[in-house]
Amino acid sequence: MSPFRFLAALSAALLCLLSLPARADLRVVASVPDLAALAKEVGGDKVRVITLALPTQDPHFVDAKPNLALELNRADLLLAIGLQLEIGWLPTLQNGARNPRILSGSPGYMEVSPFIRPLEIPPTAVDRSQGDVHPGGNPHFLYDPRNAVKVAQGLADRMVTLDPQNADTYRANLARFIAQVDKARAGWEQRLTGMKGVPVVAYHRTTAYLADWLGFTTIAYLEPKPGIPPNPAHVAQVLGQSRQLKARMVLQEDYYPNTTARLVSNKIPAPLVVMPAGTDVRGGQTYFQRLDELVRRLENGLKGQGT
Ligand SMILES: [Zn+2]
Repeated sequence: MSPFRFLAALSAALLCLLSLPARADLRVVASVPDLAALAKEVGGDKVRVITLALPTQDPHFVDAKPNLALELNRADLLLAIGLQLEIGWLPTLQNGARNPRILSGSPGYMEVSPFIRPLEIPPTAVDRSQGDVHPGGNPHFLYDPRNAVKVAQGLADRMVTLDPQNADTYRANLARFIAQVDKARAGWEQRLTGMKGVPVVAYHRTTAYLADWLGFTTIAYLEPKPGIPPNPAHVAQVLGQSRQLKARMVLQEDYYPNTTARLVSNKIPAPLVVMPAGTDVRGGQTYFQRLDELVRRLENGLKGQGT
């Protein structure tokens, strides 16, 4: 082996070692990928983080597989969004994990929704006939980076409580994350000023916080009720509204089938923008990169380009 190749191999091996956490002091399990990404930002190399739902999975309906319960059995901290997003699958896993540290009420279980101001709280009592409505408000709040910062602050406090030895690291990581997001946010907002007042059609009610942040208006949803797939009569109605109000974009997550959205997008016509549904933490993506990708796709949508 030439000296150059030897050095290249050595540095590759070192890089490999460096990218592994030295020793994880906290085992964190997050219900959804964005939450795992935020836990990674704050925890850095002091934590081992895994996500239960993948970015390709609808977070309302995750298959509660036994291998997930095994991860929970060894966890020091279980993170959930709350507002009943995970109500259909997480309690089963949590109770089946035989781990008292992560049961509700224990310091090792935390829902992060109390750190944000929920939108779309139903004015009256809800029942299942209205679809998958969340009585405490809309749980899709990590589309707004301002909420991600608030959640990261809450995570840091909890990690400090559970693992005070590494308090300085958690606080320093938090400060770096907040600075990074705050700086990027100004750029994102500038690139998307054109979104203000823009009428859009969305598949599911995941756009509430994004609309609140960027100032666009969701004029209709392809789902007739949250969690209920589109049907022809409803789609015809949405199409009528979209033409009347001149919808500029159709938005949906990549985990939903896109046949209906594509049809509506062609008929309006307006670009279909597929939103990354969560951070690809397993692929090494960060929350910052996921938001940056979302901004890029919306920016293309404003130029008339679909995803
Ligand atoms: Zn939802």
